Amino acid sequence: ANAIFSSLGTTIFETMSRLAQAHGAVNLGQGFPEGLEPADVVARAAEALVAGPNQYPSMMGTPDLRQAIARHERRFYGTELDPMAEVMVTSGATEALADCLFGLIEPGDEVVLIEPLYDSYLPIIRRAGGIPKLVRVEPPHWDLPRETLAAAFSPRTKLMILNTPMNPSGKVWSRDEMAFVAGLLERFDAYCVCDEVYEHLVYDGRRHLPLMTLPGMRERCLKIGSAGKIFSLTGWKVGWVVAAPDLLAPLAKVHQYLTFATPPNLQSAVAWGLDKEDSYYDGLAAMLAERRDRLAEGLRGVGFEVMAAGGSYFLTADFRPLGFAGDDDDFCRHITEKAGVAAIPISTFYQGGDVDHFARFCFAKTESAIDEAVMRLRRYF
Ligand code: PMP
Ligand code: GLN
Repeated sequence: ANAIFSSLGTTIFETMSRLAQAHGAVNLGQGFPEGLEPADVVARAAEALVAGPNQYPSMMGTPDLRQAIARHERRFYGTELDPMAEVMVTSGATEALADCLFGLIEPGDEVVLIEPLYDSYLPIIRRAGGIPKLVRVEPPHWDLPRETLAAAFSPRTKLMILNTPMNPSGKVWSRDEMAFVAGLLERFDAYCVCDEVYEHLVYDGRRHLPLMTLPGMRERCLKIGSAGKIFSLTGWKVGWVVAAPDLLAPLAKVHQYLTFATPPNLQSAVAWGLDKEDSYYDGLAAMLAERRDRLAEGLRGVGFEVMAAGGSYFLTADFRPLGFAGDDDDFCRHITEKAGVAAIPISTFYQGGDVDHFARFCFAKTESAIDEAVMRLRRYF
């Protein structure tokens, strides 16, 4: 018989969440929020489930959600979109990413990526026959090595993935860095998949800047969003991608065979939620910034050296001051099993190299979960 195997590994998020569960650990590993779900958006979905319709919605997304996404892009970034030709609803940003990569990459195309990278990018690029070209940014400052990035581009470059705010680093790309990227995209006639799922989770008075809004980038960028992140409802798996019609068309071809559609009731609740007043969006960022600071202070009290994070759900912490003998994989397993706190090893976001003494902690948790985690770590170390 033909051998059956998979070259794909198990995602670190599943592995660590299982380990956390087995040991009753406070799970600061997998990035999902706790205690932030807006009750009114959930109530809209509940009503829509009962009222229906409950059949396949339009393949590209319900018209109300596509229109709401277009309004959202205009309101926050001034981008004008044709909701019927330039917006596609997907089952989470994860599907949007797969649609972009399967839709645009031809075997042999090169794809420029910035490490540390979100875990779904590489496996899909490889399955699509793409050739990854990796460029590293590293703690503590996550600075972009511009020469190296420029050298990663070639006439074979089809696209780049840019994730800002960035998981796991919390790096918020500067306008200057993005202008540099824009220059390379033009010079090499390449496209950019912009993973902006954390667009509203930007702190310290800064504002999210989509690459798509820079001069010349409207026709080169595919911008991905996630209701999971905007409404702290990651289990809903409602995402989207917006792009010029010619760029969106090949993605729609993939989407029709991957998922075809996304639950219509969740779509209408998200459509309603996107029109929420500014105080909702500002309040979410303010609450998360507070939790970031609470966790950072707690971890520093334990002895970690904590890196600055301008956005996202995540803090990166150097555990060398604690005197632990072992790498980040060992450390994260160890604290999950022994201290009862789960975290994610940063090295899993790199292909090799020596960034092996940092752990990623998710701060999008309740204050009591954060305090409990810090107390457990303090007691242990
Ligand atoms: N991109 C990044 C950078 C993420 O961190 C995540 C998950 N949190 C996703 C994409 C996937 O988002 P979704 O849950 O909407 O599929
Ligand atoms: N994006 C989340 C994280 O980085 C997890 C998503 C998942 O579990 N697939 O932790």
